[in-house]
Amino acid sequence: MDPVSSTCDFALHARPNLFEIDLGAIAQFTRHIREYVGENVTVCAALKCNAYGFGLLRVARTVLTAGADMLSMVDPMNAIELRRAGETVPILVYPGSVAAPQSVRDAEMFDFIPTLIDLGSARLYSRCATKPLRVAVKVDIGQERLGFPAEEAAAAIGVIAALPNLEVHIVNAHPNVPSPPSLDYLDWQLDRFAALCRQLEARGLNVPIRMVASSKILSLSRKAIFNAVDPGQMFFGPFRAEGDVPWPAGRSAFAKLTSRLIHVRTLDRKEFLAQAPFPMRPGMRLGVMPIGSADGMTQLHCGEVLVRGRRAKLLGNPSLEHTRLDLSEIEEAAVGDEVVIIGKQGGDKITTEAVVAHQRHARIADLAMAIRPSIPRNYLEPELSGNQRSSPAAQ
Ligand SMILES: *Cc1c(COP(=O)(O)O)cnc(C)c1O
Repeated sequence: MDPVSSTCDFALHARPNLFEIDLGAIAQFTRHIREYVGENVTVCAALKCNAYGFGLLRVARTVLTAGADMLSMVDPMNAIELRRAGETVPILVYPGSVAAPQSVRDAEMFDFIPTLIDLGSARLYSRCATKPLRVAVKVDIGQERLGFPAEEAAAAIGVIAALPNLEVHIVNAHPNVPSPPSLDYLDWQLDRFAALCRQLEARGLNVPIRMVASSKILSLSRKAIFNAVDPGQMFFGPFRAEGDVPWPAGRSAFAKLTSRLIHVRTLDRKEFLAQAPFPMRPGMRLGVMPIGSADGMTQLHCGEVLVRGRRAKLLGNPSLEHTRLDLSEIEEAAVGDEVVIIGKQGGDKITTEAVVAHQRHARIADLAMAIRPSIPRNYLEPELSGNQRSSPAAQ
């Protein structure tokens, strides 16, 4: 047997960890966003950070099938990946790199819409473009991060639109929304954007897409809907609206995070108990699952998991690739048993909300992003969503 050329069944050898994603939930949230904004508003799905950890290609296909019009992200490599996978919809790339001749060539070759945030890069794009190129211009209305200040933006867009080969196709902004949100503050920011839109019109500058909303803003105020919206987090979970916008509850794209017991043993240590890796009692049952801090586990648990439908506490801290459980109360637990870290088992459920609260994460979206690429993703297809399972899909 030649160990280099002989095939091996990776699925058989893989650690038994799985992140299950409900594409049906993503489709449902997409339809809801479409219904909420209406037919005439462009829905741009902001799928940055590998679609918030859920997987760019599968999520992109799902939202586009369910009614999104275009996609956006920060990393130009993500846009290139989508083109190579055959996606033809408009793709907006938010600011995330230093403009260089290569960026212009890539925008032309892979047909994406780069975002300009200063006149220097606008001139470089104009100089290097070999044909008319659609660009976006980012405006700062309160986030104090990227773009032209709203009051200077109309003049800047005038300059950019007059440069050879540049067509300003999108003007967009990302407001600042503190927690708890202040509607007066949001209104001030939206008014700055509205004033800019009026100035553009007065100057005869027709920018086809005018876009402000992200998820938080969309959930707070309909005033945020100009003629396009670019939510991200909203595609994945019951977005806890702080405003009065109704939203479907109870469903989440985050279906399940699971592992299995690979080791079960009764502990019988009597010495150096104070130095033990966790508080020990004589006769306690230990379980071990092969998922650890290197897989993101430290940020993914609520202190307990489910085994045979019952709660087992974590013992000590996760190590790099293993986590210990206290199985003392679950006598029948055995090697091979499924361990649910997030999700349902038997009659019990560990919710994403419980983990977010335990971990003090800022948002539900932080969870899927914390799941490292070492954990395989399994997609439940929209038509199979519910209790059925699809076969593991290649990502
Ligand atoms: C991330 C991002 C969004 C989407 O934000 P969510 O809060 O996930 O809805 C929209 N616009 C820009 C520019 C972004 O960077």
